[in-house]
Amino acid sequence: MYSKKILVICAGVVLLFSGTSLAQGRVDSFKQEAIRWVQANEKMLADASLAIWRFAEVALAEYESSKCLADMLEREGFTVQRGVADMPTAFVASFGSGKPVIGILAEYDALPGLSQKPYTAHKEALNPGGPGHGCGHNLFGVGSTGAAMAVKWVMEKHGLAGTIKLFGCPAEEVLLGKVYMAKAGVFDGLDVCFDWHPDSRNAVRLLTSSAMNNFEITFHGKTAHGAADPWSGRSALDAVELTNIGVNFLREHVRPTVRIHYVIPDGGMAPNVVPDYAKVWYFVRDNDREGVEQLYDRVLKIAQGAATMTETTHEVYLITGVYNMMVNRVLAEVLHKNLQLVGTPQFTEDEQKFARQLQRSLGVKEIGLKDEIDELKEPERFMGGGSTDVADVSWLVPTASLRTVCWPSGTPGHSWGVVTCSGSPIGFKGMIVTAKTIAAAAIEVLMDPRIVEKAQAEFKEKTKDFTYKSAVPEYQKPRLPINKNR
Ligand SMILES: [Zn+2]
Repeated sequence: MYSKKILVICAGVVLLFSGTSLAQGRVDSFKQEAIRWVQANEKMLADASLAIWRFAEVALAEYESSKCLADMLEREGFTVQRGVADMPTAFVASFGSGKPVIGILAEYDALPGLSQKPYTAHKEALNPGGPGHGCGHNLFGVGSTGAAMAVKWVMEKHGLAGTIKLFGCPAEEVLLGKVYMAKAGVFDGLDVCFDWHPDSRNAVRLLTSSAMNNFEITFHGKTAHGAADPWSGRSALDAVELTNIGVNFLREHVRPTVRIHYVIPDGGMAPNVVPDYAKVWYFVRDNDREGVEQLYDRVLKIAQGAATMTETTHEVYLITGVYNMMVNRVLAEVLHKNLQLVGTPQFTEDEQKFARQLQRSLGVKEIGLKDEIDELKEPERFMGGGSTDVADVSWLVPTASLRTVCWPSGTPGHSWGVVTCSGSPIGFKGMIVTAKTIAAAAIEVLMDPRIVEKAQAEFKEKTKDFTYKSAVPEYQKPRLPINKNR
């Protein structure tokens, strides 16, 4: 009797085991189909990326770039909602129905003043003074779009249940797009979300980022002749300068994780005119929202003091504010596993030679393009650094973020070196690896409900006692550029 029972249990285990491996085989073969779709469409994706690279449209002016991606997705059978969250260049493209709902983020804005010729190892503007893709968002937008299209192709072919959503997120360079999209509830209903960024390494990040406030302080004074009757004037520029002096004294008494930086976009027009209008633009950062809010209050007190000292009036406009990034470990592991499956971008000897020439021009180590995948490991203690508006999404839904090699190491971010690689075969190869990796990871999530369960459990644990509250006021709409040609 006893031995019979064991036999039955054993048979059950064997059955269960062979069922699991069958299911795994299906997942693996669907992933390979998605990878092959990306491979077959490499040229189309590279062409789209180069088109967006040439448009080089800055934050909230990405009309052609967002149209290019939204049109591609619509042609492929996605339902596209354009102009979401009061931003004409934001969109959401969806395919499928029901659970799980998988999001992929896309960005496509350029940076002002960074125009550069493509695939050129020395600094030479394509359009002097014009914008350029100094953060590789032309690759970002198309890599994510390619992943969504590959997943859709497999879903349709095999009748897979679930929903894939591609989010066209404008204005990342001013950390604004996803903040207003989050506030408008655009990311509601997602189960998981994938993100990536072009880089000089192949990695899945577990690193956080700084929370931040981005704001302007405008002072109004009284104008006068700079020499004839300066005593009649009240200088708005004095107020800006005194604010900055106060803030620079504040630096000694803030946490080591704090970052404060500013520029003066308006400081008057001529020395012999007392400026009655001046503006200073600040970014303040710390490890979390609480730290940023305290810091922001202290800077505003200083501005109030400067206005009192100079007998000027002032106003503050909070352009945007973001959270610190919260990476989902379960989802990061899925991305990492699929990056290992896809492998690193394979560069030719000519591309490596170009990379070393570029590194020479930049005065950094001539080691070429990286070929390894970084280990997935907990980072050292975060001591402050850059920010991203992906962070706000990460507090709403389990999110993981990939990095692939699109330029050689040592290339400074937001520089001509990034622009030149983002318009070259080097950038396109990193982008293709991304499209394959995110597509494979999304298929795994679609086919294995345990991933969403585990990712959600981790997310709930990390966000207990937390309610997302946008840093920007509830009714504030994004300020659109004034000089747009439409
Ligand atoms: Zn970027």
